[in-house]
Amino acid sequence: MRQPGAEYDVIVVGGGPAGACTAGLLALEGHRILLVEREKFPRYHVGESLITGIVPTLTALGLLDRMAELRFQVKYGGSLLWGENQTEPWSFRFREVRGGRYEYAWQVRRAEFDAMLLDRARELGVHVIEGATVRDALTDGDRVTGVRYQFKGESDSVSARATIVVDAAGQHRWLGRRFGLVDWYDDLRNVAVWSYWQGALRYPGEHEGDLLTESCRQGWLWYAPLSPELTSIGYVTTSDRLVASGLSPEQLLEKQIAESSEVSWLTSGAKRVDIYRAARDWSYTCQQFSGPGWVLVGDAAAFIDPLLSSGVTLAMRGASSVAKAVHETLTAPDKERHVMKDYEDRYRDFLGQLLELVRFFYDGAHGKEELHLRAQAIVDPDRSLPPKLSFVSLLSGLVRGDESLAPGAIDEH
Ligand SMILES: Cc1cc2nc3c(=O)[nH]c(=O)nc-3n(C[C@H](O)[C@H](O)[C@H](O)COP(=O)(O)OP(=O)(O)OC[C@H]3O[C@@H](n4cnc5c(N)ncnc54)[C@H](O)[C@@H]3O)c2cc1C
Repeated sequence: MRQPGAEYDVIVVGGGPAGACTAGLLALEGHRILLVEREKFPRYHVGESLITGIVPTLTALGLLDRMAELRFQVKYGGSLLWGENQTEPWSFRFREVRGGRYEYAWQVRRAEFDAMLLDRARELGVHVIEGATVRDALTDGDRVTGVRYQFKGESDSVSARATIVVDAAGQHRWLGRRFGLVDWYDDLRNVAVWSYWQGALRYPGEHEGDLLTESCRQGWLWYAPLSPELTSIGYVTTSDRLVASGLSPEQLLEKQIAESSEVSWLTSGAKRVDIYRAARDWSYTCQQFSGPGWVLVGDAAAFIDPLLSSGVTLAMRGASSVAKAVHETLTAPDKERHVMKDYEDRYRDFLGQLLELVRFFYDGAHGKEELHLRAQAIVDPDRSLPPKLSFVSLLSGLVRGDESLAPGAIDEH
C-alpha cells in the first residue's frame, strides 16, 4: 500500500552493495523504487576481499554468471599468521562449512563489482539517479516520507516521496547523523593505510587467492591478491599507536611490511603502483535501525572492523533481510514496527557475534586453537560441532543455518 502522495514505494539512498542489492531485490518483488547515488559509477571503494556470505544474495539477483565473466580472483579461503607462537601461516577453506555448498568467494575490484550490482538494479527496473546527493529527509510528523536531493553543481533540490526510505549511504550515516543515533566503540578506534603493488608473489595452488592476515606487534597487515599481477596491502593500527610512532601512515605501512615475516618476502621485488590511501575505520552501531517510514542497512547501520572482511557481506545479507522486511511492510503496513524490529534483532545478533570475535582477535595474540574455541563459544555454545567449523562459519559470514541473520529472506528464488 502506497502512502498518499508518494511517487515511489521505496527510496534507497546510496548505490553501494547495500543500496543496490536492497533496491534490486525489491524491484524483483514488483515495487517501484528510486535509488539516489552521490557518485557516478564506476567509482573507487575500499573493501575488496569478499567472503561466501554474499553468494546467496548474488544468486537471488541472478549475478553468478556475471561474476564469472568479470574474472575476479577466486578466493577459496584465508591464511592467517596470527597468534604469539605461530611461526607458519595457518588457513581455512570456505568449503569446510555448509556441506561445501559455497566453495569460494572473490577478491574484487570494487569499482567494477559495485557497478555490476547497480547495473543489475537498473535492469530490474529501479530508477537509478547518479551524481545526486540526498541532503534532507521529508517528514510528516515523526514519519519520514521522502528525500530532498541535489545534483552536483546545481543549487536547486528535487523532492521525492515514498512509503519507506532506506538509508544505505554507507559511512556517510545520513539518517544516523540526522537523528543522533551513532554509538562509537572506543576500543576499536583504528586507522588503516593501504596501497597497491605489482609483481608480489603468490602462494601456490588453491591458496593463490587467499587473503593473508598477519598480526604485527602494533596492529595487522592485509595482503589481498586482486589478480595475478595486482596486490592490495594495508596496515591497520589504533589511532593512538599511529600518533605515538611519530611516523606518517605511509611510513608506518612501509615499516610494518619490512618488519613482517610473510608479507615482506611475498613483496620482495614488488613495485608500488598506486597512491597511498588512508581511512579512520572507527567502529560504530546506530542505536536503532528503523523508525516510522525509514530503515538503515549496511555501513549506514553499523561498521564493525575490516579484520574479518565482513563489511560487504553484512551489506548484502542485510539487503536481503531488509528487502524482505520492507516488502512485508508494503504488503501489510500495520506490520511495519514488528517486521522492522525483527530485522533489527537478527542483524544485531550477527553483528554482535562478529564484534565479539573481532575483540577477541585484538585482545592479545591468541593462537589458532583459542580463536576456534572462542568462535565455538559464540555460535555453538552447546558444542555440537568441531570448534573450527564455528570459526569458518563466522569468517564466511554464513553462521550455521543463517538463522541469526536472514531466515526466509528474499534469497535464491
Ligand atoms: C580499511 C577498510 C578495509 C575494508 N576491507 C573490507 C574487505 O576486505 N571486505 C569487506 O567485505 N569489507 C571491507 N570493508 C568494509 C566495506 O568497504 C563496507 O562495509 C561496504 O562497502 C559497505 O557497503 P555499503 O553499501 O553499506 O556502503 P558503501 O559501499 O560505502 O556505499 C554507500 C554509497 O552511498 C553513497 N552516498 C553516501 N552519502 C550519500 C548521500 N547523501 N546521497 C546519495 N548517496 C550517498 C556513496 O557514494 C556510496 O556509493 C573495509 C572497510 C575499510 C574502512
